Amino acid sequence: MAVEVAGGPMKGKLVVRNIGLLLSGDLGEPILDADTIVAVDGRITAVGRAKNVDGDKPDRVVDAKGCTVAPGLIDSHCHPVFGDWTPRQNQLGWIESCVNGGVTTFVSAGEVHLPCPAKDPIGVKALAIAAQRTFANFRPSGAKIMAGAPIAEKTMGEEDYAEMARAGVTMIGEIGLGTVNTGPEAKKHVDWCRKHGLQTIIHTGGPSIPGSNLISHEVVLEANPDVISHINGGHTALAPGHICQLCEQAKGAIEIVHNGNEKAAITALKTAMELKRTHEIIIGTDAPAGSGVQPLGILRTVAFLASFGGVAPEVVFCMATGNTARVRKLDAGLIAPGKPADFVFMDKAQHTSGKTLLESMSLGDLPGIGMVMIDGNVSCGRSRNTPPADRIPEVVGH
Ligand SMILES: [Zn+2]
Repeated sequence: MAVEVAGGPMKGKLVVRNIGLLLSGDLGEPILDADTIVAVDGRITAVGRAKNVDGDKPDRVVDAKGCTVAPGLIDSHCHPVFGDWTPRQNQLGWIESCVNGGVTTFVSAGEVHLPCPAKDPIGVKALAIAAQRTFANFRPSGAKIMAGAPIAEKTMGEEDYAEMARAGVTMIGEIGLGTVNTGPEAKKHVDWCRKHGLQTIIHTGGPSIPGSNLISHEVVLEANPDVISHINGGHTALAPGHICQLCEQAKGAIEIVHNGNEKAAITALKTAMELKRTHEIIIGTDAPAGSGVQPLGILRTVAFLASFGGVAPEVVFCMATGNTARVRKLDAGLIAPGKPADFVFMDKAQHTSGKTLLESMSLGDLPGIGMVMIDGNVSCGRSRNTPPADRIPEVVGH
């Protein structure tokens, strides 16, 4: 069972030293010339070479043992319900399992897997507000879960969105999973959301399960949401030409998910990068789903896009961290002063043919995770889910 971390951020000074490779999450400089991170009260205060940063009088020291450190991964697209339980596959502890896959922040694309969710405006609003509230406090293994993502229904009006925004809801779930599924209708709801400060996302492609809808490229273009959710389908993708058209013409961020069409993912990746929209590519799992819970879904997608897509792994890591944080307005995703001390420690997996972690990922192998920290607290040690890492970090002092 998942364990709630109620203690809040680590108190005091954390020093992470002997970092072999530091990935920033920032496309401007994906690899930092640094081997040490200092954090105070769960937030990064300094990043640099050991001799240049103040590592004196630490309350906790982590010896990275030469491992790679990256910002905690962000899943830009998942479907929590309540607690660490998914009725979609009747599974407990899936969020905690994903923390073992390096994910520290989860963004809900709609709590749609609740059995028989409400469809009437009052019920939709109540569910969204309840989900936002409960997940703001529920931290399985320390994970941060942004939830409360209502699904647009035709019976809803502008005042419904205004009321949710006032109540603390910051986004909506995938347009198209409810009764709003045409271009003009979707645009109306997106415009209301934008007016009231709610982020908008739209299901893209064929129906995901019986009862959901096709959302074509025309609908996406007319609706103009903030995020083109799973541009590679969830799972049924649009035609390659229509994916290219969205990359060229749609303003929303380009989201690639694990539980989508892999070939379409590569089409979207290459097209978006050719169009110099690399900073707008973000990564999600779309789990839990018919394809199941994917504890390693973000890591697998990073390795997939790096290997089949031929993109430098350190760049793909930015898509799974800093890009998502910027697009989805999250306080996370970067190794930089002021940001939360959310770290994933990785090393090349034992017996990979790659000589380094980055090379192993370019070959399509997964890295091994040796530790995950959230707000300066250790959420897990050696991952129970990844292949074993060559080296793992160690907490050497308190
Ligand atoms: Zn979807």
